Parts: sequence; C-alpha cells; structure tokens
Amino acid sequence: MRYCTRCVMPDTKPGIIFNSEGVCSACVSNIGKRMIDWDERGRELQAICDSIRGTNGNGYDCIVPVSGGKDSTYQAYMMKHVYKMHTLCVCIAPHVQTEEGIANLNAMVENVGVDLIKIVIKPETFREVRKQAFILKGEPNWAEHLTMFSSVARTAMMYRAPLVVWGEDIAAEFGGRGGEKRSASADNIVRNDLIKDERIDRFLDGKQVQEKDIFFYRHPDIEELKRRNIRSIYLGYYHWWDGQKNYIKAKELGFTGRKAGPLSGNLIDYDNIDEKLCEINIWFKFLKFGFWRPTDQACYQLWNDRMTRAEAVKVVNELQYQIPSEYIGEFCEFHKVTEKEFWENVDRYRNKEIFHQVKGEWRLKTPLV
Ligand SMILES: [Zn+2]
Repeated sequence: MRYCTRCVMPDTKPGIIFNSEGVCSACVSNIGKRMIDWDERGRELQAICDSIRGTNGNGYDCIVPVSGGKDSTYQAYMMKHVYKMHTLCVCIAPHVQTEEGIANLNAMVENVGVDLIKIVIKPETFREVRKQAFILKGEPNWAEHLTMFSSVARTAMMYRAPLVVWGEDIAAEFGGRGGEKRSASADNIVRNDLIKDERIDRFLDGKQVQEKDIFFYRHPDIEELKRRNIRSIYLGYYHWWDGQKNYIKAKELGFTGRKAGPLSGNLIDYDNIDEKLCEINIWFKFLKFGFWRPTDQACYQLWNDRMTRAEAVKVVNELQYQIPSEYIGEFCEFHKVTEKEFWENVDRYRNKEIFHQVKGEWRLKTPLV
C-alpha cells in the first residue's frame, strides 16, 4: 500500500493508477480540470438544451435524479433555472431516511419548483438483495446504485424525456478506471465503478427475488434508449464540480446539513446525510481497501485548494479509525441480521494484507505520512 504524493489516496483504491512521480489518476484528472474552458463548456450545454427544449411537447425536457442531497438540489436548480428546462425530478426513496433528508427533499421541491416522482422499491426484495450484496460483496449499497440507474432510465422512457442529467462522473472526479478521460456522456453509467461487472441475475433466488420483482433493477437496453433519442449526460462535464459550492447553492434553497454535526469519520456535515444505510457501505471500503470517508473528504478539500497535504494527513489519521456507530443498530434491523453476524462480516472483509493488530486494535500496516 502506498499513498499519492500530492493527495492522500492509497493505491488500493480500485481502478486508480499512479504515475512515475507517484501522483494518482484523481490528481492528474484534477490538474486537467483546471485547464478546461468552463465558459465554453457552459455554452455547449446551452446549445444541447436549446436543441431539446420543447421537443417533448408539454412533457418534460429532462430528468434529474435526486436524493435530497446538496448535489441533486444544485442539479435541479441548474436545469430548471439556468437552462430553463421543464424538469422532472426522480427520487429512489431511501428505506431508512434521516429527518434532514426528508426536509431537504421537500425543500428542494418547494424552493426549486419542480415535479418529483418518488419510486419506492418494495422492502422485501430490496432487503434481500441488499443483504446478499452485504454478505457476498461487502457492498450492500450496490443494490441502491443499480436501482437508481435503472429506475431513472426506465422513467425517462416512460415520460419520453429526451435528456437525463446526472451529477459528476465519479471516475473522472475520484480517479477510478485508471483516470479515464472526462466524458460528457453518461449513457453507460450503469457500467460505472459503483456497479462494476456485477449483475442482478446473481441475486435471483426464485423466492423473494424473482424476475417480476426486479423491474426497477433491470436497466433497459442502452441501444433501445439510443433509438428513442434519450441521452444521459454529466453536469460535471459542463460545470466545475465542487460539492462545497453545490452545498452553498443548496443552502440558499433550504438545504440544511446534519443537525448533530458530522457523523463518525466525517470532516463535513453535509455529505450523504439523507439516509442511514450508506455509511456502513462506505466503511466497508476501509476494511477492504484501507480508506473511507476521511480520505475521500480530505482529498476533495485538497483538490479544491481548501486543504494542504499536511493538513489532510493529520485529519485522516485522526478520523479514519472511528467506527460508524451511529447507524449500525438500524442497519442490522433493516437487513434482519444480528449484530454478531454484522461483526462476523466485518471480520471477514477486513483485509489482513493491509491491516495488522497493534495492542489489540486493527491498524494499517502502512501508515499515512
Ligand atoms: Zn492524488
């Protein structure tokens, strides 16, 4: 395990590559981001919107997937108010919501002024797929991501909306897929780093999870979407993507951060606060690859010139061994697993190649310095 010399990302992150100077692909992408003519990119998006607006009659011009988070509030605002698109928001309702998440989603609908469709996946199937993904992959939110990408594509087909506007391309922003070139098109989003090569078919058990139960998990054929002239894009291709900047805009529109302050392991109180199940998913990344929220958030501050590497090293070392204790109880309750089973799974996924025990505590063999 080694760390990027410019940020604090380790080379254990799937898909990341380091150059000969020991700089990671996320940093290389960040350096490239600074050379982009963003005014020109804004004009490109303007031209796309001008060519699409009104082509669906009185129907919707575009779909914005939303969670009630800061980024989705910003996306909805941009498409409705800056690009003047008739916007339909689509939310895959979280099953264990936070108070802030509910209030922020309501505030977005009210203050941005958009129609919202909420898709609630039936819990019995969702629980089973999530539980299997937790046990087999150590990645329960895989199910969440798949339903989000698939449901949004299905909704675009149903409403004949010609454009779907996603937020950032995570590979470009966070250095996955070997820092693949930034792309405007999100047509292949269902093949991104959150889904990888896994397929829903693996989870069909003939009981709780049958083909008829997974309509919203099954992504429509990408060629079929193309034939219907439905395209998906990343807003982050056309506008400098910065979660903190999005947060400031969302705040003007009624968004609030977590009232009780940052969750364990977090530097900030406004990231992924709309529901309670994803925190465990992110923490499993730490067990497997040796980094999670503190590294992601510190890198983000560093890439946006709000933190030096020395400050990032300090804060990651302070926070990374914290445990996401806030939601473990509700996580177990939702998935119907006992805390004993939960901790057995933790132990199973702890990567012993990168962790060892120091005075009875699991610590990374290669400390971040
Ligand atoms: Zn880096």
